[in-house]
Amino acid sequence: MTSKLQEINHDVDLCVVGGGIGGLLTAIAAARRGAKVALMHDRPVLGGNASSEIRMWICGAGTRVRNLQETGIMEEIALDNMARNPTRNWSLWDALLYEKARFEPNIDLILNCACSEAEVLRGVGNDAATILSVTGFQSTTQQRHTVRAKIFADCSGDSILAPLTGASFRVGREAKDEFGEEWGLDKADRRTMGSSLLIQARETDHKVDFSPPPWAYDFPDDEALNHKPHECLLKPHTNFYWIELGGEADTIADAESLRDELLKIAFGVLDHMKNHGDHGADNWELEWVGFLPGKRESRRYVGDYTLAQNDVENGGRHFEDIVAYGGWQIDNHLPGGFWMKSEGGAHLQKRRLSEPYAIPYRCLYSRDIENLMFAGRNISATHIAFASARVMGTIGIMGQAVGTAAALAVEKGVAPRGIYEDKALLRELQRRLMDDDCFLPGLKREVSPLARAATLSADYGDASDLLNGVDRRIWGRDNGYFGKTNCAIAYAFDKPTFVNGFRLVCDSDLDRENFDGHPDLLTIPMPLFRGLGYGNTSFTFPRTMLKSFRVETKGADGEWTTAFETTSNNQRLVRGAIGRECLGIRLVPLATWGSVLKDNTYGSATVHIFAFEPV
Ligand SMILES: Cc1cc2nc3c(=O)[nH]c(=O)nc-3n(C[C@H](O)[C@H](O)[C@H](O)COP(=O)(O)OP(=O)(O)OC[C@H]3O[C@@H](n4cnc5c(N)ncnc54)[C@H](O)[C@@H]3O)c2cc1C
Repeated sequence: MTSKLQEINHDVDLCVVGGGIGGLLTAIAAARRGAKVALMHDRPVLGGNASSEIRMWICGAGTRVRNLQETGIMEEIALDNMARNPTRNWSLWDALLYEKARFEPNIDLILNCACSEAEVLRGVGNDAATILSVTGFQSTTQQRHTVRAKIFADCSGDSILAPLTGASFRVGREAKDEFGEEWGLDKADRRTMGSSLLIQARETDHKVDFSPPPWAYDFPDDEALNHKPHECLLKPHTNFYWIELGGEADTIADAESLRDELLKIAFGVLDHMKNHGDHGADNWELEWVGFLPGKRESRRYVGDYTLAQNDVENGGRHFEDIVAYGGWQIDNHLPGGFWMKSEGGAHLQKRRLSEPYAIPYRCLYSRDIENLMFAGRNISATHIAFASARVMGTIGIMGQAVGTAAALAVEKGVAPRGIYEDKALLRELQRRLMDDDCFLPGLKREVSPLARAATLSADYGDASDLLNGVDRRIWGRDNGYFGKTNCAIAYAFDKPTFVNGFRLVCDSDLDRENFDGHPDLLTIPMPLFRGLGYGNTSFTFPRTMLKSFRVETKGADGEWTTAFETTSNNQRLVRGAIGRECLGIRLVPLATWGSVLKDNTYGSATVHIFAFEPV
């Protein structure tokens, strides 16, 4: 008897494969810009390495360089997490990411579904190949889902659509002379960074015994552990990243055997800390071991441009097609991983960057498959450039760029490359990104025509910087407006003017230190270790954020009436609908998160915002 699986078909504008941070933000950005999106993801939870299945912290440019924290959807998620998940619970974090995709009307979320087939139309002559559809198997329903789309974004980390479509990709480390990289090798090889699994533990007020499984490795002394820095429990900003293997193997084909080895090491490390010498671990109990190793590196696509070491160091290069930026250090893990013998036990090659660098749009679409884009650790970059661009804050803003570009390409009926080739479209992509609160170093956001045509005044102080097109404190300039609660900022029109809405950018303190006060700033610091003295602290919401405000419009009779009001804002970028003709519009700030008193009334406070405009 032959059995047949049920076939489910989806017809969309954009199909995103893989729901890590790159894929999730690609899908959300495209959907919010009007594209119909399918997001096919092979796990039950979203977020990839940042999900509760792997538990990596989201870092980015702002972790190392002040005020460079990623904004746009990344910051929206970070602020929602701070407001709604104060105790930093991993399940609430999963639920937040799930909510962003599942309840977005334009996203068809297909979870537990692994993409394994693609239908490709091979080009004739000079015509490039085009993907027609992809198909995945959904393990929970035993259904096959086929998604037809105009554009495909491979955000699977492992570039699953490369072997399925024949798109060009790279694996391993480049030779010095190929891109002129200082840290390139004399001879290229296929070695990569390895995969790691992490451990979560918590401190109790009593001694907790631990017996390792019989198959765990035995590490009787620090020498056997190769002096890996295992004082993690006492240092909440570190983790067991060094339980890492696979750089000398194939992180895709060997993933199952690598997992087996990593588990033997992980339980052996725990045994060492609990039962061999004093590691301050007596009262600690194991809470969780990841059974799904996080992958750092596998296939990287080849786009129209390949980002290299010289493009990320010393402030990088000027790219007219900048759509995202990086700033995390070059953080290269050497392939030997856990078993590598080295001084101090580390297997890292690191260099801090003092300036952000531009990520050009040309790194985000395939050079040979006409409708294939990518965001994540698989973008078009050399091994060394990837070693910086691979952190999830950076990947998130790449995702927002790819999603926004895909929606624009569909709207204009062009292929992804068409946006680069048509400079007006490229400029429109950058305009939309900045309007959605993405920072593009070196470019200024266009202030709305309504704001430019009106007269701006403030009851208190000077508000002129609200019109300078830079929405963060950066490079020695505040770029914001300092006002006071109950003192309005107003635009006056010289004739009755229809106002659709407003755009407001609050100060969410992009320089906030939120990992239990540790100076290594982390964008979304979910804890791995909960000590009795640390790791249990709640997020404190940025005191600078505007919490309560009114937007009013001025009628022909000269009276101000409320058009929008909130007492619970927790977002940096706020857009509100107005939809009326008026002679003026004003913002009346009422309270910041720092000025809410214990009895839920408000104290007077300084207000700090970066933009307020009628649109
Ligand atoms: C141990 C470790 C520590 C790290 N530390 C940090 C850190 O501290 N901070 C930081 O910011 N970054 C860190 N990184 C780097 C960062 O986590 C990765 O570079 C990043 O997660 C890559 O994001 P992504 O969206 O491209 O891929 P991923 O996070 O790998 O997400 C891709 C998703 O696609 C899914 N997928 C794969 N194949 C398919 C398919 N065929 N069909 C459907 N879905 C598929 C996968 O299940 C996965 O969830 C670390 C990485 C590792 C491994």
